[in-house]
Amino acid sequence: MNDSTDQDMTFGFAQPRGRVYGSITETVGGTPLVELPHLMREDELKSRLLMKLEFFNPLGSVKDRIGAAMVMDAERRGEITPGKTTLVEPTSGNTGISLAFVAAARGYRLIVTMPEGASIERRKMLRLLDAQLELTPARLGMAGAIARAEAILKHTPGAWMPRQFDNPANPAIHAATTAEEIWVDTRGEVDIVVAGVGTGGTASGIAHGLKPRKKGLQVFGVEPVESAVLNGDEPGPHGIQGIGPGFCPHTLDLHSLDGIMTVSERESIAAARRCARLDGVPVGISSGAALHAAMQLAQMPENAGKTIVTIAPSFAERYLSTSLFNGLV
Ligand code: PMP
Repeated sequence: MNDSTDQDMTFGFAQPRGRVYGSITETVGGTPLVELPHLMREDELKSRLLMKLEFFNPLGSVKDRIGAAMVMDAERRGEITPGKTTLVEPTSGNTGISLAFVAAARGYRLIVTMPEGASIERRKMLRLLDAQLELTPARLGMAGAIARAEAILKHTPGAWMPRQFDNPANPAIHAATTAEEIWVDTRGEVDIVVAGVGTGGTASGIAHGLKPRKKGLQVFGVEPVESAVLNGDEPGPHGIQGIGPGFCPHTLDLHSLDGIMTVSERESIAAARRCARLDGVPVGISSGAALHAAMQLAQMPENAGKTIVTIAPSFAERYLSTSLFNGLV
């Protein structure tokens, strides 16, 4: 029989956190930064490629940060009160799920409006978390969901809308936490950050948090080539959920970024699949978009020897019914 008592049986797993959390909302953030050694080797990348795994957040996406921050910021300013305020937000994506867990944990009623086409997984998660769903006609798109949410806001006493595309608490939480974590975990050895742009909160917040600390550090945004509005094109339909909203949001500070790269849905999916296959990291489609752009930067001679951090906003399983999984069964 093997006697393993003298051996290290932890295999380098993460350390205990040394504390008990009072609520799930306190577990947001502190996500791990990991290398992608097999991708780096297969593409003979001259830069170090790191990925920040935002799907380690409690409800599985980068949006947990803003879901919690927007609500707690409004509480702190006395705008909302648990047990009294009804939160209302138009969202077909991860923000709804994040607001739902925060609303349940802190005692708010939540109404989410979304176009009928939203996936059944998302709708069921929202119901599980006790959010109220208002489905709007698919042919009206997000505009229909927004109009409905505004009407509910007007007619519901004590209602409040987080407004993720306008709320300064969105980029601010990324400056205070996401950027800080990247700085501490790399011990300042970060040269380039790449993040997809939906509200722009992640990319601008990281730029605001990191650029004052290191001269020459660059932050690139990523948008779908099929809807490259920030590069002067017309908005269009695309399959990279979470990025490319088709307009320039208030939460995006374009001046803080060094460029907006464009990536196609096909390239995003290919990169996401390679990341799962080669390094065992199954990410969502927008993570694939940021990864594809990061790999392009990593191939440029001027970036040899630099450390590039790419943000992975979500986990592959949230896209089971999308083209990410086409042809896989
Ligand atoms: N990817 C996914 C899957 C998202 O849900 C979001 C948030 N909409 C983003 C990327 C972009 O993040 P941000 O809104 O901070 O630009």
